[in-house]
Amino acid sequence: MINPNDNQHWLSPDKKVLLYSGGLDSWFIKELWNPDVLLYVNMGVDYQEAEIESLKKENDPRLKIIEFPLVQFEDKESKFIPARNLFLLTLAALYGNRICIGAVVEDTMPDKTDIFLHMMEKTLQIVLAQRVWEYSGEGISLSDIQIETKYKKLTKPKLLAKYIQKGGDIFKAWETISSCHEPIKTDDGWMPCGRCNPCYQKFYTFYLNGFRGVEEDYKRKSIERIKEEVTIRRKHNRLKLLDECWKQIQKEGDYDK
Ligand SMILES: [Zn+2]
Repeated sequence: MINPNDNQHWLSPDKKVLLYSGGLDSWFIKELWNPDVLLYVNMGVDYQEAEIESLKKENDPRLKIIEFPLVQFEDKESKFIPARNLFLLTLAALYGNRICIGAVVEDTMPDKTDIFLHMMEKTLQIVLAQRVWEYSGEGISLSDIQIETKYKKLTKPKLLAKYIQKGGDIFKAWETISSCHEPIKTDDGWMPCGRCNPCYQKFYTFYLNGFRGVEEDYKRKSIERIKEEVTIRRKHNRLKLLDECWKQIQKEGDYDK
């Protein structure tokens, strides 16, 4: 749980805190935004054991892991945790005044929308205010919490493109980013499944940036999933990025099974 004596506590001013999972969005934001604290919240959900193992390998001194068992509210069927990002952003605000959550264009959850992030910023400015003089009518001395939203304007492939522009190593990114929600335990550690949401999103992000170093098995599973998604989304007219990736896959003859 949170230790009030922790030197990363919110009394330390001017700190950039990134809610970090080691997954695609937060990994690239870490590279681009240069945060002071990488805050990992262990909510106790299944896939986090593999994530934590992978994070420890990164061995970043900025990493701070805290326990906050939101898993107790998880819907077992859909794996959905209601109001998850409201809790996570509140925790981040206890470690610094500039906070960021890995949100990008593709995110459609209500607690990652622009309006939510804006209102959350205002809420945190009030709940973490230094003093309140409501009765005297002098108002509130708001805290200076800011939520960084500039990455919310980018797609996942654009995030990777920005990282490359900045001189980043695409191979290192592929190897280090660990974001599978259904990892498979092997004798050598955890293996990504290749087809869950984070897995196929990682695939199309790299594929659209010209990366062709994906392991055969992973590639086959991701392409299979993209094909299914394209079929479903075409019906709802929600294609864009995936369609672009699917056209490229067909052009390169990567789907012939
Ligand atoms: Zn996966």
